[in-house]
Amino acid sequence: MSNESLFERAQKVIPGGVNSPVRAFRAVGGTPRFISRAHGPYIFDAEGKRYVDYIGSWGPMILGHGHPAVLEAVQKAAVDGFSFGAPTEREIELAEEILKLVPSMDMVRLVSSGTEAAMSALRLARGATGRNKIVKFEGCYHGHADSLLVKAGSGLATFGNPTSAGVPAEVVQHTLVLEYNNLDQLEEAFKLHAKDTACVVIEPIAGNMNFVRAALPFMKRLRELCTQHGSLLVFDEVMTGFRVGLRSAQGLYAKDLPGFEPDMSVFGKVIGGGMPLAAFGAKRAVMEKLAPLGPVYQAGTLSGNPVATACGLATLREIQKPGFFEALSERTRSLVSGLLGAAKEAGVPMVGDSEGGMFGFFFADTLAQNYGQVMATDKERFNRFFHGMLDAGVYFAPALYEAGFVSSAHTADDIAATVESARNVLR
Ligand code: PMP
Repeated sequence: MSNESLFERAQKVIPGGVNSPVRAFRAVGGTPRFISRAHGPYIFDAEGKRYVDYIGSWGPMILGHGHPAVLEAVQKAAVDGFSFGAPTEREIELAEEILKLVPSMDMVRLVSSGTEAAMSALRLARGATGRNKIVKFEGCYHGHADSLLVKAGSGLATFGNPTSAGVPAEVVQHTLVLEYNNLDQLEEAFKLHAKDTACVVIEPIAGNMNFVRAALPFMKRLRELCTQHGSLLVFDEVMTGFRVGLRSAQGLYAKDLPGFEPDMSVFGKVIGGGMPLAAFGAKRAVMEKLAPLGPVYQAGTLSGNPVATACGLATLREIQKPGFFEALSERTRSLVSGLLGAAKEAGVPMVGDSEGGMFGFFFADTLAQNYGQVMATDKERFNRFFHGMLDAGVYFAPALYEAGFVSSAHTADDIAATVESARNVLR
């Protein structure tokens, strides 16, 4: 079956032929690849073509595809039952495992998607503080809950405008959107709205605008302002969690800012190992505001699903093995430095960055610090590079504003072959 014919068929029954927009290749053009199977660092399309996979299902597949220990755990769990709608011991085990690695949280609630986790975290932040306003940053994505589909308004006193049809302006009237890494805007926002601000939600390393780190002074000041004014600092670690390091992005900030902790955290992707699973958590006093203990409602038929928790647990156990993140980080760094070297040889301006198994590269002279700068990088060049690499059997994310992911299944040979392809394509 060809990708083309599948795409035609898909478009008749599924809007745009896809169940999540970025899969449609709208940004880069061309026909999306329909994937039939995956193994280790590779995915195979419907035509049998093999690609080195640097998307990894947009982050979850940190061990590559079909890791034996994960596969065994999932197969065993499936035999015992798909879903009970009742508590299980495995949910406790997964919660304990997550909390052991994330000391900023005393309790977690398990849900099924990052969207659900972020949406619920914000409801809890509002419920716990009794305040309405939330602050987010341009270029950060926290799932598609109504109040988060917002772009900046015309000033800091005017709140956001919906980025999606179907979201009434009234629903986003409490969401303030600031520029990422912009200290002045942050100060100003707190000056104007501190006492009404329930929380500030941030991707600590933003992976939904390629790869942009929140600068240390920015994060330090954000923490100070939240503490001073009683607003909760919410780390959306759906992408960075257990991906940039065993202690997630918050662990990296704590290295430079002693005692640093967010007030709430949101996880997804890696904690489910490829199954629908996400979580949000905080200190006990905040989490006890959640139903059934407290007044903030949240629920889910498939929450804590036994097969998903088995998959997540097995994944978290693997990434804690000695040397796991050292090796993954090294491999990811070698990919980025290889790409930059190939670009330099070809005389093409390219910059890149990585942390743990997450990376980004831009066709630009300097690393972007915010969304505006990301979108000002060379899109035409990115699109041509993307298609050149795809033809060569290397699958990068099909949009310049997405981060990339390396798994522990990627070998030095896979990286070398990718760099060799990049050399040809860039030339
Ligand atoms: N937050 C972040 C930082 C994300 O990257 C994503 C998804 N890419 C989400 C939230 C939403 O997660 P999901 O797609 O599982 O709903």
